[in-house]
Amino acid sequence: MSAPVDALPTRDTTQSRALMARARELFPGGVNSPVRAFRGVGGEPFVVARGLGARIWDVDDNEYLDYVLSWGPLVLGHAAPAVLDALRETMERGTSFGIPTGLEITLAELVRERMPHVEMLRFVSSGTEATMSALRVARAATGRDLLLKFDGCYHGHADSFLVRAGSGVATLGLPDSPGVPAALAELTLTARFNDVDGVEALLRAHAGRVAAIIVEPVVGNAGFIAPDPTFLPALRRLSTEHGALLIFDEVMTGFRVAPGGAAERYGVRPDLTTLGKVIGGGLPVAAYGGRRDLMARVAPSGPVYQAGTLSGNPLAMAAGIATLRALTPALHDDIARRTRALVEGLRGIAARQGVPFTADSAGSMFGFFFRAEPVRSFRDALTADVELFRRFFHAALARGVYLAPSAFEAGFLSAAHGDAEIAATLERLDAALAEARH
Ligand code: PLP
Repeated sequence: MSAPVDALPTRDTTQSRALMARARELFPGGVNSPVRAFRGVGGEPFVVARGLGARIWDVDDNEYLDYVLSWGPLVLGHAAPAVLDALRETMERGTSFGIPTGLEITLAELVRERMPHVEMLRFVSSGTEATMSALRVARAATGRDLLLKFDGCYHGHADSFLVRAGSGVATLGLPDSPGVPAALAELTLTARFNDVDGVEALLRAHAGRVAAIIVEPVVGNAGFIAPDPTFLPALRRLSTEHGALLIFDEVMTGFRVAPGGAAERYGVRPDLTTLGKVIGGGLPVAAYGGRRDLMARVAPSGPVYQAGTLSGNPLAMAAGIATLRALTPALHDDIARRTRALVEGLRGIAARQGVPFTADSAGSMFGFFFRAEPVRSFRDALTADVELFRRFFHAALARGVYLAPSAFEAGFLSAAHGDAEIAATLERLDAALAEARH
């Protein structure tokens, strides 16, 4: 753990700007995934050169304490020695075979130890593939077509998920993106997160037609929104009553909100689970799994087709194994404690400065909104002061703290975010908020 770094002088961003000018000629918006373009906060993204532990450096050699961590996977921090050693050792033997390897079995067993409800699983390469495939299994198993999701929850960019409520709980899906056929979007129903009555009303209105309820058990893609204590148990009960399957999308929450993810933290057993991010330790790995009778429907043991050239890639498996082995319950608790300290520190700063603020965390995942009352749904989140967030984001960045470049994204800590990093972060964010609120 290194000592806190003093606030940075004015950042020189010459190299970043030059590279982004070239990138804009090559990639839509200059990026390979939309939120990286800083549209949520304005301005231009920096181009990263390297990372180590809790820190990253851009191509102009500006240093940042990183609370994005590649959008969640890097629970051990950047360039974690355990991960790099595993990668080095594995790549000496080749990088891809498309034939079973022992590494896949080891990683699957590590997952199942922590998530016993994931009785059988299939590795894929992105969260999008995982959720898309889990939905296919749910539709096949139930013989139903409708999907119920929650407003503000993101489950990757497959057509069926690019839908949210217009307004009100009983709204039939309209596509959020051109290119999604209306006929498909109509199969997606949306409810408000934490609104049990709304879910029940939809299930009644579409009795016998809903294949699955999919939920981010702790929302991270509408900012951080925790479930009410009764919400996930109610989803479990309602799914069972109505013959729909319950899918926990734990791509973000898996191995973050508890060693065994949200299912462990909230004591609710979903039928299917999707995983990603942490299980790849920074390489492209995701998975879907759950009840054996459901997963046995997947090809070749069953008829539900799903495949992938690079699925179970040895380098990706090795990074995942190294990460899960290192992430012991004790380490998880340690990171969770520091996450709580960060959130408590932020609450204190906002209170002293008289800024309406609400913040929360679960394990190593956290979030905050500039709004006085707690946020229970995406609709609540939308009432937060986004302009203040934008100014705060840039004031933080100028002081060497990289927060997610959107008011509607969760933040993450790693094992490398020690007490010194938390103290340095709070000091800088105190100054950033003082600047932003004027
Ligand atoms: N599900 C959740 C909850 C996510 O947060 C994400 C990505 O952020 C996805 C699915 C999609 O994963 P990927 O970006 O790997 O396709």
